[in-house]
Amino acid sequence: MDKLFLKAYGKLNLGLDVLGIREDGYHEVKMVMQSVNLYDGIEIEKTDKKDIEIETNLYYLPLNENNIVYKATKLLFDEFGINEGVKIKLDKRIPVAAGMAGGSADAAAVLRGINKMFNLGLKRNDLMERGGKIGADVPYCILNGTALATGIGEKIEPLTDIEECYILLAKPNVNISTKSIYTELDEIEIKNHPDIDLIVSGLKEKNLRKVALNMGNVLELVTIPKCPVITDIKKKMIDGGAINSMMSGSGPTVFGIFENEEDAYQTKKDIMDMQCTNLVYVTKTFNPKRRNGEKNVKTCYEK
Ligand code: ATP
Repeated sequence: MDKLFLKAYGKLNLGLDVLGIREDGYHEVKMVMQSVNLYDGIEIEKTDKKDIEIETNLYYLPLNENNIVYKATKLLFDEFGINEGVKIKLDKRIPVAAGMAGGSADAAAVLRGINKMFNLGLKRNDLMERGGKIGADVPYCILNGTALATGIGEKIEPLTDIEECYILLAKPNVNISTKSIYTELDEIEIKNHPDIDLIVSGLKEKNLRKVALNMGNVLELVTIPKCPVITDIKKKMIDGGAINSMMSGSGPTVFGIFENEEDAYQTKKDIMDMQCTNLVYVTKTFNPKRRNGEKNVKTCYEK
């Protein structure tokens, strides 16, 4: 196979708690991850040039080894001694530096793609293990769907799929550095931790309201003061009929969970009228179809 097309799905956090900081400086987290049907399109093509070439529709993204898909490709090329060339075209649709793991999703898709194209025979767990070397969110992005992430985010356990629902996403015109948000969090006392276990039991009970009403993200404490419009957008979503609304990851993307499609589209218009962003999307939750029994697999990957 000389050419391959892949979808790299964005994620949201239905819950994000920080439990502490490890000696190596990484934060211990407990997060509920959920894929959404907003994806980057990726094309991988073999070339004769014996190098890794990247093209993208976003002029400001790096095209060299600083692009995470370059790192993913190089990791497998080095390990398997592949001395060939590929061109990777990234059609970026997931907002960048937005708390939606767009880069990690691209890296995960490229690991899957290179594995397939060069017949490396790596299983999902093997890919997740290699993904962890590139970034903490990459193992989850190989699995996709509804999952619990612990450790530094790299220990993944599939959860009961969320009840399919509409998701309204809005990314304010501010770029947020995940690293700086975690660093600043260390200066703050977290008084209220979200109850992640209630979100997990809501999922098990197929109770979307319970899931949504127990959402919480401790990183809002740091990001909202830098980007107060997040609070206005959350309010607009709830006024517009969302069961609940929250910031994803380190932000600034805000999402609302809607049962009603019309409410989601009307609220999209209302948010566009606020003129704080053009990046507003209505999408749905995404859960890949898994083979029989696959969902019952416990922790797929641990560092
Ligand atoms: P997370 O939710 O994991 O914190 P994020 O949404 O905050 O992710 P990304 O969009 O994944 O952040 O990327 C953040 C930075 O990584 C960008 O500033 C960008 O320059 C760099 N980057 C490198 N490769 C990519 C890529 N393929 N797609 C997007 N960003 C990339």
